[in-house]
Amino acid sequence: MIFDEYYIKSLVRPIQDWPKPGVTFRDITPVYLSPKAQRMVADSLIQRYVETEITHIGALDARGFLLGSVLAYELNKPLVLFRKQGKLPSDTLQQAYDIEYGQAVLEVHKDAIPAGASVLLLDDLIATGGTLCAAASLVKALQATIYEAAAIIDLPDLGGSQRLQDLGIPTYTLCAF
Ligand code: AMP
Repeated sequence: MIFDEYYIKSLVRPIQDWPKPGVTFRDITPVYLSPKAQRMVADSLIQRYVETEITHIGALDARGFLLGSVLAYELNKPLVLFRKQGKLPSDTLQQAYDIEYGQAVLEVHKDAIPAGASVLLLDDLIATGGTLCAAASLVKALQATIYEAAAIIDLPDLGGSQRLQDLGIPTYTLCAF
């Protein structure tokens, strides 16, 4: 299926002043209500990554799990969950990162990524890039490398994709607002 950026963008619902005044939340739930859009998004990422040296799919809590599980299944790769603090039951590595008005912590199981792995990181959206930077730090701490950080949506005005690229992490997004 040919990727239609305008169709996907038309399904992303802007919610003004949510969860806080001044924020325009880009709601991807309508994309997932459309089987055609789901397939378009998944197929274009599968095509991009099918014949690469990626060894692991890293999916970010929580909407990154939607894409991550489909890609891991189709590409036949291990799926690694990066979760918010307190959700993973075994030994974890932790990385704090800045969010608006404070800090959050991202965790990954220490045994989920072997040294030398080449990890594709997936989330639904890149805003400031803080979440993907935290995941990238965890990957590096486990002596693995990041193949690319990919998302459905980029918000370039918030600088996240540029910040990731400045850190040497290639980024790929399907559309931007
Ligand atoms: P950041 O770490 O600032 O790049 O934020 C990215 C993460 O926060 C992703 O997991 C997004 O789901 C979520 N997020 C941040 N800003 C928005 C937004 N305006 N609309 C939807 N999700 C957002």
